[in-house]
Amino acid sequence: MQPKGTFRHLNFFCMSISAEPLQSTSLDSLESALKHHFGHDQFRFDQRHIIERVLKNQDVLVIMPTGGGKSLCYQLPALLREGVTIVISPLIALMQDQVTALQDNGVGATFLNSTLSSEAVRSREQALFSGNIKLLYVAPERLFTPAFSDLLDKLSQKIGISTFAIDEAHCVSEWGHDFRPDYRQLFQLKQRYPQIPVIALTATATQRVRTDIVQQLRLNDPEVYVSSFNRQNLYYEVKQKSKQPYHQLLSLVNDYQNQVKASGIIYCLSRKHVDEVALKLQTDGLSALPYHAGLSAEEREKNQTQFIRDDVQIIVATVAFGMGINKPDVRFVIHYDLPRNLESYYQEAGRAGRDGEDANCIILFGWKDVHTVKYLIGQKADPSEQRIAQQQLDQIINYAESCVCRRKIQLGYFGEPFEAPCSNCDNCINPAPVEDWTLEAQKFLSCVYRCDQRFGMNHIIDVLRGSRKKRILELNHDQLSTHNIGADRSVDDWRMLCRALIHQGYLDETTDGYSVLKLNASSNQILKKLVSVEIPVSTRIEKSAAVSAKAANAELTDEENSLMSQLRALRKKLADEQSVPPYIVFADASLRQMAQNRPQTSGAFSKISGVGSRKLVQYGGAFTQTIREFCQANGLEERSPETAVIATHTPANQTEVTSTQLATYQLYQSGLSLPDIALQRDVRLSTINGHMSKLIEAGYEVDIDQLVSTERQSVINSAIAEVGPHSLRNIREVTGETYDYQEINLVRAAWEVANKDQSPA
Ligand code: ADP
Ligand code: ZN
Repeated sequence: MQPKGTFRHLNFFCMSISAEPLQSTSLDSLESALKHHFGHDQFRFDQRHIIERVLKNQDVLVIMPTGGGKSLCYQLPALLREGVTIVISPLIALMQDQVTALQDNGVGATFLNSTLSSEAVRSREQALFSGNIKLLYVAPERLFTPAFSDLLDKLSQKIGISTFAIDEAHCVSEWGHDFRPDYRQLFQLKQRYPQIPVIALTATATQRVRTDIVQQLRLNDPEVYVSSFNRQNLYYEVKQKSKQPYHQLLSLVNDYQNQVKASGIIYCLSRKHVDEVALKLQTDGLSALPYHAGLSAEEREKNQTQFIRDDVQIIVATVAFGMGINKPDVRFVIHYDLPRNLESYYQEAGRAGRDGEDANCIILFGWKDVHTVKYLIGQKADPSEQRIAQQQLDQIINYAESCVCRRKIQLGYFGEPFEAPCSNCDNCINPAPVEDWTLEAQKFLSCVYRCDQRFGMNHIIDVLRGSRKKRILELNHDQLSTHNIGADRSVDDWRMLCRALIHQGYLDETTDGYSVLKLNASSNQILKKLVSVEIPVSTRIEKSAAVSAKAANAELTDEENSLMSQLRALRKKLADEQSVPPYIVFADASLRQMAQNRPQTSGAFSKISGVGSRKLVQYGGAFTQTIREFCQANGLEERSPETAVIATHTPANQTEVTSTQLATYQLYQSGLSLPDIALQRDVRLSTINGHMSKLIEAGYEVDIDQLVSTERQSVINSAIAEVGPHSLRNIREVTGETYDYQEINLVRAAWEVANKDQSPA
């Protein structure tokens, strides 16, 4: 095949235009390409299969939840193939964001949309023909303009088009929540370029939309990849709203702000409420801004940018906020008012933790709010709208009041089976006691059957409890054998049972707005007494031992947290210098790994997840320097990833030594000097000094006199006597700067041991 344009067809992996050319010899797998370009160590879920398929020129439909890692599925193939990948994306903000992130990884990417001057458009178009651009993002409305059609034709002739990637593909469907007429035209792509593969991507959950996408885009025998919608890193909790809800909110938010300044979203139902809460939080000294449709476009844009850039930590918003905002490190989403329905709750809560790191999703549930929403529903003119709104409200109440795993309920709503417990929701961590309610279940189900499966929960409960309401009498339901067989249980008890039966799959409820109860195959198992039914029994009081919200980075030690704060500050500074959001520089997960492993050399830094070849060159120096300074000031050393893992999994035991420290000890015993050990082990002398301090503390025999002269020891020892052993910095303030942290640390270790020995047992 003839090379096209200026682009040479090299081997499979050499199509990169990354900052540092990729050594083809070092690459024998897609994994190496992944690390090189994006810094990730392994593929998630189906990413690898999808990428392999795209590389084989086949059509694919990818359904993955938000944060699943969809973009990589077309971005990596784009770098490995000849030609340009055209990405169709509906949201201008997202488009810019993705391009910035790619450029920061050293990938040639650009976008064309209505925000650009014609001058800028021309120069970008020219760049495309230089062969340096691997991904071109465009809005759908531009795609079929005569000028762009022309450009596409030329591109396909001169450079080649490797793939069409259609992001947010659900916009093609009228059944989706975000239909865009421009997307309807996308079938033309297959007409005009039948040979070019199409990868369509969406986070939509419904089957109808999925089918629509395949048809509308005329996908050719596509493989459909559906990932689980389970967002494992999200912790779900529902708290009863207290009598002083603002104080409750404030203390929650303060929890998140204590250690690392975590970003979070607080959703309220009305603009007025948003303004009020944002103002109160500001008054209480928190960094919060409002966002709702009542603000000018300018102000919205400004507040949003401040949030994305970490200049402000909290956004208080109506549901107008979120769509098209790509901030992967949102650590908490609190619904201060009721969510509108379960599907929007899943999406809104899902804005937390897109980076895969732990995040919390909390609803503050109050009955007063329920009454407000009920009132609003009553005001609706259209009865069918009313009916649907009521059903959606019931689903939310049901979710909030349930003792069942929150995940199970959410996923069940999307038709995805889930085996509880999930170990990451309040109900699983702190479960309600379980009781055998088989007999009650039999009564309930047979009552559903006797009522011809034509009624909802409230009616069934009325019959069971022997109600003689007009409607019951009209229907002759007082004549049923199940009438008045359940008067011994309260309405709330029966409701609890009914919900549990639905969650456990023993009963179905229609979703057309009428919520009619229907038996299914599993119901018969209960009626035939083949299975017993255990249900979690709500105690109806707020669990006193309820898990308190997990603070961000709770699993880090104090030391790691303090390094993490410094790394965050550095990230912010570097991001501001380039005018990009901090997460473009590094994700939280990468910073956390840095804080734990403390890499001080370029080699160690390159092993951090998220550090690809470009980021190593661009940021390695600054980050390792900060880490080195921190380690020196605190008498710490670098940890190899293996020892870091050991260390994080063993309970904090100061005297435990790691395998790398033991290796140093063996060389020390063989008579080598510390500089020689450093040379032989190819690590810094300060690292070896750190090992020796730990070894001394752990009780290994070390001759301190050999390492630090006795005069210097006595100066350090008297400084310790003066200011105590805890802070190396304080000790050094007394000894003066002619003493370095390493020798102070060694002497301090010996002092600790001597002191421990002297203390009474
Ligand atoms: P989506 O478009 O599905 O919402 P993104 O493509 O934005 O998700 O990816 C979400 C986050 O996951 C990003 O921060 C991205 O860098 C990260 N990510 C994607 N794939 C991987 C991977 N294989 N390993 C680690 N992180 C990944
Ligand atoms: Zn759970």
